Amino acid sequence: MSAPRLEIDLGKIEHNARTLVERLGRCGISVTGVTKATLGSPEIAAVLLRAGVLGLGDSRIENIEAMHCAHVAASMTLIRSPMLSQVERVVMHTDVSFNTELDVISGLSSAAQKAKRTHGIVLMVELGDLREGIMPGDLEKTVRETLRFPNIVLKGIGTNLACRSGVSPDAKNMAELSALADSIEATFGTTLSIVSGGNSGNLQWALSGADTGRINNLRLGEAILLGCEPLHRQPIDGLHTDAITLVAEVIESKIKPSQPWGEMAQNAFGEKPSLTNQGDISQAILAIGHQDIDPCGLQPPPGIEILGASSDHLITDTSSCNMSVGDEVSFQLNYSALVRAMTSPFVAKLMRVQRSHTSPPSSYIIH
Ligand SMILES: *Cc1c(COP(=O)(O)O)cnc(C)c1O
Repeated sequence: MSAPRLEIDLGKIEHNARTLVERLGRCGISVTGVTKATLGSPEIAAVLLRAGVLGLGDSRIENIEAMHCAHVAASMTLIRSPMLSQVERVVMHTDVSFNTELDVISGLSSAAQKAKRTHGIVLMVELGDLREGIMPGDLEKTVRETLRFPNIVLKGIGTNLACRSGVSPDAKNMAELSALADSIEATFGTTLSIVSGGNSGNLQWALSGADTGRINNLRLGEAILLGCEPLHRQPIDGLHTDAITLVAEVIESKIKPSQPWGEMAQNAFGEKPSLTNQGDISQAILAIGHQDIDPCGLQPPPGIEILGASSDHLITDTSSCNMSVGDEVSFQLNYSALVRAMTSPFVAKLMRVQRSHTSPPSSYIIH
């Protein structure tokens, strides 16, 4: 079978998505399924929709276009501020986009008029993580301007935490978002149908039984795909953490010294790795590297230790298990390894499906 490959268990992803949709539904919170880590895979999109997500969100217009091409029928949200150079595509292929800049909203408005469409806007508010967002004190002014643009509909407000700086969503910042929603509605006499509180990092807060206030939507990617919450990277109760695994193939297996010899300078990535001398070890090389994965984000099976990587080689210590050329090794991945593997054309994607409880699982490869 083709290697390296991601083995994607669509049934487990569906279970994860459905479990989160149900749990959050009890708190009055809908789920936008985030597809950006899957390169807009139509197979995974279909599974998310079957599990009951309200719509799909992606940060790249290319992924949304790919899903449209594959006839994925869902409400589509661009969850990164649109580039001015892409407003026509955004208006054509998405229903809503997240925005923080009036120049962009103006561009979307012109593009929407030309295309004879209306485009929904969620204004993103900065609540401390220092990535995208309008400063809370500037929100009212931005809403006032936004409401003036033809063919633009203000759908709601949102925020994003736990990404750039790792600021945790909590009662305080979520209450601030709720209060901003109330105050915008009172000031402008409008209804904000979407108050989108954040990403997988919001799950602990949302499911803690805390008052969720006006928050009625979360955008979830990592928790669905990996079954983990991203604040402490702990597994979420009742979710599969092995829905996606990476398989790579051994291309060299030899006994070698654990210490390099010769004069030491920088390696291919400008680092000077320090290695401890453990005498001779069994060293196996797998045909995968920085170009396909983030080596730090791979968790090898017991008995195998990752020693290093270059663009195309992953070097492992296999002293406690015998590896031969041609053998395959399965790894668990974190988010950054997953994103890179999903977007590498060198990594095949093997989708596993079980049509019913009684039928055997079948699988197919997508390149
Ligand atoms: C990536 C992203 C998400 C999804 O984040 P996960 O941690 O994968 O759930 C949600 N919102 C925005 C704005 C994002 O960029």
